[in-house]
Amino acid sequence: MGITREIETEVAIVGAGPAGLSAAYEIAKAGGEVAIFDENERPGGQLFKQIHKFFGSSRHGAGVRGIHIGSKLLADCEEAGVEIHLNAVVYGIFPDAELGVIIDGHSVRVKAKKVLIATGATEKALAFDGWDKPGVMGAGAFQTMMNVNYVLPGQKVVMIGSGNVGLVVAYQILQAGGKVEAVIEAAPAVNGYSVHANKLKRQGVKILTSHTVKRVLGESSVEKVEIAKVDEHFQIIEGTEELLDADTVCVAVGLTPSIELLKMAGVEMTFLPKMGGFIPLHNEYMQTSDPDVYVAGDSSGIEEASSAMEEGKLAGVCIAGATGHLTEEEQQSRMQEIRESLLALRSGKGGEGRRAGNQEIVRRYEEWKRKNQDQ
Ligand SMILES: Cc1cc2nc3c(=O)[nH]c(=O)nc-3n(C[C@H](O)[C@H](O)[C@H](O)COP(=O)(O)OP(=O)(O)OC[C@H]3O[C@@H](n4cnc5c(N)ncnc54)[C@H](O)[C@@H]3O)c2cc1C
Repeated sequence: MGITREIETEVAIVGAGPAGLSAAYEIAKAGGEVAIFDENERPGGQLFKQIHKFFGSSRHGAGVRGIHIGSKLLADCEEAGVEIHLNAVVYGIFPDAELGVIIDGHSVRVKAKKVLIATGATEKALAFDGWDKPGVMGAGAFQTMMNVNYVLPGQKVVMIGSGNVGLVVAYQILQAGGKVEAVIEAAPAVNGYSVHANKLKRQGVKILTSHTVKRVLGESSVEKVEIAKVDEHFQIIEGTEELLDADTVCVAVGLTPSIELLKMAGVEMTFLPKMGGFIPLHNEYMQTSDPDVYVAGDSSGIEEASSAMEEGKLAGVCIAGATGHLTEEEQQSRMQEIRESLLALRSGKGGEGRRAGNQEIVRRYEEWKRKNQDQ
């Protein structure tokens, strides 16, 4: 398939989730020209699957349904004149901030001065006997089918993982008319917020901590799930096995940044398990080792939607500064406001680890830069 058309823009953004949309709004508001590309039919990324009221701080939409946060961001972008391309899969990034995109089946070349990669995250998998059987799937995949495509892919579900994603999706399965046989958690305590866990417990769902899945049984798809207790070293305690009736196993054991395009761009990576695995090195301006390529949201380290929005704003303000739409003073003053907001999000239970993780990424970036300058 040859290139059928070219788009020239000042800034190209890949991913119209909370990070990409927030960045686009900041750039357009400052007078920049922005085109945003997303592979889905609807913009909003993860937000459009999230029919639950958000957790987090009220300043960042806690208590508001994710889907409504997405609609508001989208309306702001449209009003500010952001060019939004949907059904647009970005398959490649080439030198000089050029993108290869398939839009509605046609190959399009996008030329930009700066590129922001806000491609979100991918679900982590878990290997166990029978993990490749139909019926074993990511909790996020189940949620997409249920909340976006209105299909309930299973009726009797075992959820593996008691983080917020596992708990929220388990509750939504009940709301959609399915049954949750149990939530299994290898750690000795529930990982997610107790407000989500308590909603499940009130509906009679068992949350089994210090448990894991041993294997899945079934002729051609999931029919039964064997679970077992684990010791403090996460080793199965023989003799504690139990069989659960289920047609689906949902895996909610964490997310890892979607870094394929960033790898293709050749930006420096670092490995930081607490932020989701391989992370693009970036500085406090959300700029990677390639000065024309920026990152924000889950693709720059796993956090949550509120931080994704703030990081998107930060990247947006820095790009607007770098392209001459904000003065140094204006940029620094906006950056300070956003940093304070991020700091507030990265405090308290769970937040401190993310704060330390982000500081570590910037520290490693500076170290990389020093070494590179010395050579
Ligand atoms: C079940 C669940 C519940 C959650 N609940 C909450 C909550 O209550 N509160 C909260 O703060 N957070 C919550 N989160 C987390 C939150 O949704 C994410 O942290 C947030 O969406 C990350 O934003 P993002 O913009 O980085 O990525 P995403 O929202 O994932 O958006 C990335 C977008 O990029 C697109 N994309 C990727 N690659 C390409 C490509 N090559 N070409 C074109 N498009 C591409 C994707 O399709 C997607 O639309 C939840 C997550 C899940 C899974």
